[in-house]
Amino acid sequence: MAELDPPTKRECHRCGRREVWDADAANWTIANGNAGEPFCIHEWDITGAYQPVTE
Ligand SMILES: [Zn+2]
Repeated sequence: MAELDPPTKRECHRCGRREVWDADAANWTIANGNAGEPFCIHEWDITGAYQPVTE
């Protein structure tokens, strides 16, 4: 039986922005002070079943 392992960090392929999952806030937060490009359409390197909501 496969067990889902939600990602706890992600990095944008385009601008290098790094974020970590804040379980308390239930949201992503900037990991290392690198917010990347403010207008970047971030493409995260997360794989697997989890997909961020896109519109
Ligand atoms: Zn980006």
